[in-house]
Order: sequence, then C-alpha cells, then structure tokens
Amino acid sequence: MGLLIQQTMSLNSSTLLNEENAQGAKRNPECLESLPQTPSSVEDNPLQQLQLASQEVLEKAKKSGRSKCPRCNSSRMFYCYTCFVPVETVPTKEIPTVKLPLKIDIIKHPNETDGKSTAVHAKLLAPDDVTIYKYPCIPEYEEKRHEIALIFPGPNSVSVKDIAFHLQKYTKKGVCASDDDCSREPVLKQAKIEPEEEKNPNEGISNSRSEGTRLKKIIFIDSTWNQTNKIITDERLQGLLQIELKTRKTCFWRHQKGKPDTYLSTIEAIYYFLVDYHQEILKESYKGQYDNLLFFFSFMYTLIKDAKCCAGKE
Ligand SMILES: [Zn+2]
Repeated sequence: MGLLIQQTMSLNSSTLLNEENAQGAKRNPECLESLPQTPSSVEDNPLQQLQLASQEVLEKAKKSGRSKCPRCNSSRMFYCYTCFVPVETVPTKEIPTVKLPLKIDIIKHPNETDGKSTAVHAKLLAPDDVTIYKYPCIPEYEEKRHEIALIFPGPNSVSVKDIAFHLQKYTKKGVCASDDDCSREPVLKQAKIEPEEEKNPNEGISNSRSEGTRLKKIIFIDSTWNQTNKIITDERLQGLLQIELKTRKTCFWRHQKGKPDTYLSTIEAIYYFLVDYHQEILKESYKGQYDNLLFFFSFMYTLIKDAKCCAGKE
C-alpha cells in the first residue's frame, strides 16, 4: 500500500489519477481494506470543514505535473521532501503561512521514507516555528525540561489540559519529573529557571495564563510505531513530560496496516494538538487558526480518495 501510493505520487500528475485507477482496480480488495470509508458526514471526514487558503496553486501544479526543486533540482510533485521547499510551479507566496503559539521539533527516523512523511507539511506551512531533526541527530533537551513536552502515548503520559500542572512540578523540583526519576538520576543538573518577567517583558498576563504558557516547545516523533519505540528510549528524551492526545480517527491514506485508525499521521497529530492547546491552555475559542497546516494534507487526501472511488470500488 505504501509503495503503491509512493509510486503514484511521484508520477506525472496527468497520469496520476489513471495510474491510481489501474492499480486500484487490480488491487481492489487491499485498497478497500486499507482506505478510510467514503465519508458520509462531516464527522466522518473532518477535513471537509477546514478553513483553508485557496488550493488553486496545487490544482495548477497537479495539472502541469512534476516540477524542479529550486535547491536540489530533483523532480518532485508539489514540494521537495528532502529540502523542505515547494517546487518551482508552487510559488512560496501562494502557500499559506501558519503562525504557531509555540515551537515544534519533529524527530524523524532515518528509515522513514521521506516521500511518505507528512512532517514536511508542517515545515512548509509553519517554517518559522518548526524544525525537523533526523534521528539520531537531535538536540539536548535536559536543561529545558520545564518548558518542553513530548507527544507520546505512554503509561505516564498526561492530557493536554494537564500540561501546565505537570510542568510546574518540574520547576519546583528541579528537573525531576517523578520520584522514580530522582532516585534513578540523583545528580542531575538543576534546570535553569529564569524569571518569567525577563522572558516576557511585555506580557501583563494573569496567573493562569502564565502557567499555561509555560510550555515553549513540543516534540513529535515521525516514524512507524516500531521505530518510535527505539527513539523514545533514547537517553536524551528521558524525563520529558509525555503528552497523550485525545482519541481521534485518522484520515491518512497511508494508514499503517494492523494499527488502529486512531494512529494519526504526524501532521494530523500536530494539528489536533494545537487545536487542543489553543482551547484548553490558551483558553481561546478556536476559529480555524491552524487549519492551513492541513493545506497539503487535505488536497492530497482528496486526490487519492477520489481516484480510489473512481476505480469502481462498488
Ligand atoms: Zn530538493
């Protein structure tokens, strides 16, 4: 399935739909199994209600076919997944830019095929706030543990609304997240705790707001489930507050076989985290501020879904 899509996504766009049709028809049983059902309501397809910038530029690029990456000259569709830039037929100024309320680090497993990853969508659409690292080249987070969290559904993970409460413990007790951590690593360096006033001189904010905005950076892991387990045990990621997202169904067309449909793609996870963060931490009503993070995702999803439907699945 992954291979099928990967091949077709890199084909000339004029043949993209036909290829999908041909292969989709041949491999119909498998496609049926691994594709989301045709949405019958907004609830089934949350992508339908997004407030997105015009996707005309993507429509045009689709028609004209693959184009050159301005940096490495590779022939790509829509964007270059190795250089994290749009191709020549997709001018940067016609792509929306999303301003995020905090920084995002994405740790990518080197084995994760570049063309299949949606992590690059985040970098393209929020270039000022997103950094992609290729494992094992990742930053040291130890001294920033009081203002960083990691998205990972583990036994100790907490929900988004409880982030502030748990990060508070990190500051008060130094860098120890729990008694376990303290006994295991008794001589950790004290995290640098700078006065909030120094960092945010202009913000006359309430206590609850200042507690909530303690979080400065959120880390996502972009890999298959098995690879994630390898990364999560890296000593540089130990002791970080782990966050579990609310259960939501994926729309991802390369849904991993054998995994539940709540296993989100990286860009979906980022998007849903930000929506929750906005409402539950910033305490602001959500008005589509981050919807454009799904600018490429929703377009490609529709492209693939339509092609599959045309393959005559029923
Ligand atoms: Zn490139």
